[in-house]
Amino acid sequence: MANKPHMNLIFIGHVDHGKSTTVGRILVDTGSINEQVLKKLKERAAETGLEGQFLAYTMDELKEEQQRGVTIDLSHKKFETQKFYFTIIDAPGHRDFIKNMITGVSQADAAVLVCEAVAGVEPQTKEHIFLARTLGIRQMIVAINKMDRVEYKKESFEKVKKDVTDIMKGIGIDTSKVPFIPIASLPGEGVTKKSDKLSWYTGPCLLEAMDALNAPESLVGLPLRLPIQDVFTITGIGAVPVGRVETGKITVGDNLIFKPANLQGEVKSIEMHHEDMKEAVAGDNIGFSVKNVGKTDIRRGDVAGHTDKPPTVVEDFTAQIVVLNHPTVIAKGYTPVFHAHTAQVACTVSDILEKKDPRTGQTLEKNPAYLKTGDVAVIKCIPLKPMVLETQKEYPPLGRFAIRDMGQTVAAGMVIAITPKVQ
Ligand code: GDP
Ligand code: MG
Repeated sequence: MANKPHMNLIFIGHVDHGKSTTVGRILVDTGSINEQVLKKLKERAAETGLEGQFLAYTMDELKEEQQRGVTIDLSHKKFETQKFYFTIIDAPGHRDFIKNMITGVSQADAAVLVCEAVAGVEPQTKEHIFLARTLGIRQMIVAINKMDRVEYKKESFEKVKKDVTDIMKGIGIDTSKVPFIPIASLPGEGVTKKSDKLSWYTGPCLLEAMDALNAPESLVGLPLRLPIQDVFTITGIGAVPVGRVETGKITVGDNLIFKPANLQGEVKSIEMHHEDMKEAVAGDNIGFSVKNVGKTDIRRGDVAGHTDKPPTVVEDFTAQIVVLNHPTVIAKGYTPVFHAHTAQVACTVSDILEKKDPRTGQTLEKNPAYLKTGDVAVIKCIPLKPMVLETQKEYPPLGRFAIRDMGQTVAAGMVIAITPKVQ
């Protein structure tokens, strides 16, 4: 894996269109799943009488492992190709899980949209394209799945391709750069190799298209930002905060500061995949320990940085948002919960500065009285509790958020300006 760029790839799309099956197919065909695990998954699937289901189980199995907490490696499934070291994020498609998807997207460099040929475009197909775009994902691949169920017909593929293209163009995506690939993940056609059944198709298979993505800009060169996911107590070590290094690097001996907790200390140890290491870089999921920092001193949502370039606690911030799904309207004074990196903080919308045309980005209306579903706008917000945020431009992973209210995601967006708080 040395010297290969790291690529975080998220699979998005409507529920049941075959995201998990596609991911499973890729992992199995590339030999990225250990034989033992594969056997277990196949047995489990056979028990339920749904043999093909074992592919989807490969991802579920991983989630379970994470839930059992047997490991502090919070990363997702990894595998390598000639060009990249891939981390695959399988996003659940159900509406209620959209927040997880947003958390996933905030870590993703590119997205594969899975849309099945039978049902074609469905509500979450649209929503996920929109979200991925709003949250700053620039590269996309469209996999049109379940081609076996439409007899591998070109016309069925072209119909879905056109519908997806229309949606993408509608929000300003240049579709000339988006590969559209016919696949059938369950029987394994067109995913990791070209398929005879799709002889009319001359483009790359899905894996080839993944390998043709542009390497993401490295976040390693930025100052350190390490949002805390959780803090464990481990015998012999003490408090072990865990999280993903979003930007920069962290080295044993560094002087860290946690914000907003405002606590400082020296890094004593770093661990990844149960191994001690001297240094971790952007993209690594680690556990670490810091001198004089105990379990109750810091919590999920705090962000670690170096003392000479501390994370920014904001007084207020300006953001561009897209309203995804609000039953009524959003007006000044609205105070939903903002989910940014690992933090969840209620923030008041203090101003609605302008409403924008989602296609062109041009101003439609200055100081509108309210926003409704489908609107794109620039708003100003004030967190009710101290919160670390950065602009999306400076620190992409720390400048994106989802807005949740009444048990659902009502909006998503990115931070375009901040006013630092004097602490
Ligand atoms: P997800 O919700 O998008 O993750 O979808 P899953 O991967 O769980 O797949 C949903 C259902 O579609 C499962 O029963 C799969 O076996 C089935 N499926 C997935 N891909 C294909 C395919 O290429 N052909 C057929 N016929 N069924 C598929
Ligand atoms: Mg799934």
